Amino acid sequence: MGTLEALSPGAVVLVGGGPGDAGLMTVAGRAAVEQADVLLVDHLAPAGALEWAAPGAEIVDVSKMPRGPFTPQERINELLITHARAGRRVVRLKGGDGFVFGRGMEEVIACTEAGVPVRVVPGVSSAIAVPALAGVPVTHRGLVQGFSVISGHVPPGHPQSSLDYAALAASGTTLVVLMGVANLAAITEALLVHGMDATTPAAVVARGGHPDQEVVQAPLRDIARAAGAVRPPAVTVIGEVARWASEAFEEEA
Ligand code: SAH
Repeated sequence: MGTLEALSPGAVVLVGGGPGDAGLMTVAGRAAVEQADVLLVDHLAPAGALEWAAPGAEIVDVSKMPRGPFTPQERINELLITHARAGRRVVRLKGGDGFVFGRGMEEVIACTEAGVPVRVVPGVSSAIAVPALAGVPVTHRGLVQGFSVISGHVPPGHPQSSLDYAALAASGTTLVVLMGVANLAAITEALLVHGMDATTPAAVVARGGHPDQEVVQAPLRDIARAAGAVRPPAVTVIGEVARWASEAFEEEA
């Protein structure tokens, strides 16, 4: 079954929308948006993509839904299922890739358990695309042979953190931190404590691909302070490749 296959009434398609610029949606993602009867949209999904929706399509901004008796995710699952059971073609539009810190699998499982057919259109994840939009490759031949993508949502040492910062510090891979703005000082401190070189280049790229994209570059030991005023969403890149971070990348290209 190809990703360009027509949407079926009564089915759900989870579409990864890329980091926010509609130009970074996939062709299959756009085709799904064009055919949808109802779109359930996250706040980090590309707003420009909604212009492709059919004139009669219903657009639900699920990030603005009031909290009811259910947690928001349960409510979203319920909406997906209700709309699909009403025979609509349902598109769930998310930022980046739905399976990278996107709760995509929770929605796949909910649909499957409800007997609602569901398929996935992968998206361009901000983990790779946002560094690239600031001129930073997550790998580079001769320099780094891998990258590790982590969530900074909970700080190191927090009971809910399952990340091994000693291993990350010693991994030799580029580190890409999502949802890490608030905890950046604690994250960089943990890496330094575990022996990462304090002069390792680092960069914070906020609102990548948006007209107000912002890039802050500093050595690891200074990056949290330098990026103190940055507004999320932002991706932090730590590693030799971050030396190429540049505000003016697109203009120079
Ligand atoms: N599924 C998404 C990630 C969801 S978690 C993906 O694959 O991209 C949300 C985090 O993604 C944000 O906190 C931020 O770290 C990152 N992010 C998403 N869009 C971004 C953007 N346009 N610019 C910078 N960071 C972004």
